[in-house]
Amino acid sequence: MNPVGEREIRESFVNCSKGEARRLNLPRNLSELSWADLDFLGWRDPGAPDRGYLVVERQGELVGVTLRVAQDVRRSFTKSTVCSLCLTPHSGSGVALFVAPRVGAAGRQGNTVGTYICADLACSLYVRGTKRAESGVRFEETLTTEERITRTALNLEGFLDKVFDGDLRSA
Ligand SMILES: [Zn+2]
Repeated sequence: MNPVGEREIRESFVNCSKGEARRLNLPRNLSELSWADLDFLGWRDPGAPDRGYLVVERQGELVGVTLRVAQDVRRSFTKSTVCSLCLTPHSGSGVALFVAPRVGAAGRQGNTVGTYICADLACSLYVRGTKRAESGVRFEETLTTEERITRTALNLEGFLDKVFDGDLRSA
């Protein structure tokens, strides 16, 4: 993705209040990120461990989504779980169930979309092999890196469509 600055990021959020977007903690190293290797910017809030954020270009516009880690999940810690965006298998807490408030009235009424995503939101790095999951699971795929990048983008698009779905219905 193209490099973006703090102001663009804060203005991109679609599913939280302006005040929340102004206050949320951004990644500390924005200017040092390897943007060309990112399909989306994802990070966990350093000041609020149950919060995460995802910023991506969608239909030519920058879209930011706030996420919250669902607390009531009971999963086996011996079982590996796959990220629904990049399909990287993780063990234990390597994958988290994130919920995103839907855009617009639906979200304000508490309507959310949940999905399993790499807990550190670093899908772009796992897809490119620059970061490895600690699952110990050997997951050999015949897809090229390029194909995995495309698949991740499609999965993310599907997730965002669901987040925006409430907005369409309320419009
Ligand atoms: Zn992932």
